[in-house]
Amino acid sequence: MRMLIMGPPGAGKGTQAKGIAAHYGVPAISTGDIFRSNVANETELGLKVKAIMAAGEYVSDEITNDLVADRLTEADAVNGFLLDGYPRTVAQVVALDGMLKASSATIDAVIALTADREELVGRLLNRARVEGREDDNEDAIRRRLEVYDSETKELLDVYRKRGVLITVNGLGEIDEVGERIREALAEQRA
Ligand code: ADP
Repeated sequence: MRMLIMGPPGAGKGTQAKGIAAHYGVPAISTGDIFRSNVANETELGLKVKAIMAAGEYVSDEITNDLVADRLTEADAVNGFLLDGYPRTVAQVVALDGMLKASSATIDAVIALTADREELVGRLLNRARVEGREDDNEDAIRRRLEVYDSETKELLDVYRKRGVLITVNGLGEIDEVGERIREALAEQRA
């Protein structure tokens, strides 16, 4: 099972990704988490992306694609994965297609979480207070939501045309949304 999960910042993408990945026995691979741990550990990569992330901008496609290409060759990802936060640009879609082509693999499902803008800003400001994430300040939040909207529409169209897009309402309790995703996936695969 090779899957992607997309959703605006604050839609609970990371939480749902972990639940769904566990359900299907595949690793959840979050580019945001990988970048954040590199920043925290002050690696060469971390130092490169720190300021970009704090501003709510995207890391370059080149850096991001290399990171994912490396990660997908690890043993746990060979038979399946759930990518969280990647691809985020059309160039990344093309790069991912290239990575999969080498092993004649394809993406089976793309889960798109939807959520109301006002609700998202509220959730993110709350997360900022609880977790202290550096890019959860109001300017960066607004910027991330804008960047998400403008960059993602096109990607959703690509996967819709391929017939693998599943749109799920991301508002509600964690378990409730998880159940919606599992049902939608089961229906798609039936
Ligand atoms: P969120 O979706 O909540 O904003 P993520 O954890 O998915 O957070 O990503 C945080 C930041 O990491 C992004 O704002 C961006 O700077 C960087 N990032 C993560 N994934 C990508 C990607 N695929 N392409 C470019 N930048 C990325």
